[in-house]
Amino acid sequence: MYNVKSLKAEEFINHEEILETLEYAEQNKHNRELIEQILEKAAPKKTGRGVECAGLTHREASVLLACDIPEMTERMYELAREIKQAFYGNRIVMFAPLYLSNYCVNQCVYCPYHYQNKEIPRKKLTQEEVRQEVIALQDMGHKRLAIESGEDPVNNPIEYILECIKTIYSIKHKNGDIRRVNVNIAATTVENYRKLKDAGIGTYILFQETYHKESYEKLHPAGPKHNYAYHTEAMDRAMDGGIDDVGLGVLFGLDMYKYEFAGLLMHAEHLEAVHGVGPHTISVPRVKKASDIDPNVFDNSIDDDTFAKIIACIRIAVPYTGMIISTRENESCREKVLGLGVSQISGGSRTSVGGYAGYSEDERPHDTEQFDVSDQRSLDEVVKWLMDGGYIPSFCTACYREGRTGDRFMSLCKIGQIQNCCHPNALMTLQEYLEDYARPETKAVGEALIEREIENVTNPKVKEIALKNLEAIKNGQRDFRF
Ligand code: SF4
Ligand code: SF4
Repeated sequence: MYNVKSLKAEEFINHEEILETLEYAEQNKHNRELIEQILEKAAPKKTGRGVECAGLTHREASVLLACDIPEMTERMYELAREIKQAFYGNRIVMFAPLYLSNYCVNQCVYCPYHYQNKEIPRKKLTQEEVRQEVIALQDMGHKRLAIESGEDPVNNPIEYILECIKTIYSIKHKNGDIRRVNVNIAATTVENYRKLKDAGIGTYILFQETYHKESYEKLHPAGPKHNYAYHTEAMDRAMDGGIDDVGLGVLFGLDMYKYEFAGLLMHAEHLEAVHGVGPHTISVPRVKKASDIDPNVFDNSIDDDTFAKIIACIRIAVPYTGMIISTRENESCREKVLGLGVSQISGGSRTSVGGYAGYSEDERPHDTEQFDVSDQRSLDEVVKWLMDGGYIPSFCTACYREGRTGDRFMSLCKIGQIQNCCHPNALMTLQEYLEDYARPETKAVGEALIEREIENVTNPKVKEIALKNLEAIKNGQRDFRF
């Protein structure tokens, strides 16, 4: 039976509830009156405390996703843009993945690192190699990483992951500094989550892949990941282990997207109901080509328009949750979805183990790659492209370093006040990037952007401090934050 507060996977991600939701959505997909009411409920409202959004239940959001009336879809896009603007402004946070090891004992049929793939070379970074990778990433200008590793208790035990995190945080090369390490590793125990928390991680990210239990079990035929309940309940254990910020995601293309969408929102509702905090981020990857993987065998793949609509509906349903897309998506797709709600993107990414150090911008090792990177531009090119499109690329990592995590973060976010930190922090970290890493033409565009954008800092005290800090950054000082 469906129970949002239950700690059992099959009760908070309840199959019957999802089927009823899909039926309800199908029946109401042309119910204009109801759709109007849902859009009205989700619209940002000005209150005495700031701007607030009500969000939507999984049933309401599923009606929007099912609706195929073009004019209503346009209204959804407008609303998604309005919410994005109200809570995230025009900043886009930058990050890069760092692959530590592709040893894996699981058999996920959509991933080239699956145990039975004998074609792919197996590699695990030594601490010296981690150091080299981090220096290469710092030299590009990155400040925020997401570390990735296969599941293998012998080759990649938690001690290895912890050692890598320690190494990453310890490296200060020139003005480089990795200030936030997000972690994307297999579901684990409360005790191990506590160790990750103590190591100072940012967000713990774990993709559900699919919420459909039967498909899940087929797609993960063997290995510890086969256990649907253990995987689905991982975020509860992570939160019990003290990790406030967790990142959800499904791999679109594995099962029916409407099913995944409802499951994803039910998972978000569950975290909010049980822990008082919803997910910090939601990632929206799609299945891609890789060694031993042909995306065409997954017959639930979604086109770019459906993908954009999913993103808009997530933005409307969970306005306070950051949304991430990776270099799995190409430039034009990324451009389309940025305005609809995406708040974080990766840039200059390598999805292989040891893919950064020793390679030039154009060289890309493919031997241990997890997926084909569609957006192959350098970080500098992505930064300039964002600025040309009116966005502020942000290298901000301030919140968790200031203790603004979990409900402390959400309470600021929910009244639109976090922007008072995000906006000046974006400008100051962009200034650092321009000083230390940008090409001259990128620097010129960035300087002009900062000069314009600083005028949009509304609080006079914050503006005064930000201006002073920008000057100090030009004079060689680093790492200011609100
Ligand atoms: S998705 Fe993760 S757990 Fe599955 S095979 Fe790939 S690396 Fe291993
Ligand atoms: S201030 Fe916080 S929410 Fe805003 S960009 Fe920085 S880390 Fe993210």
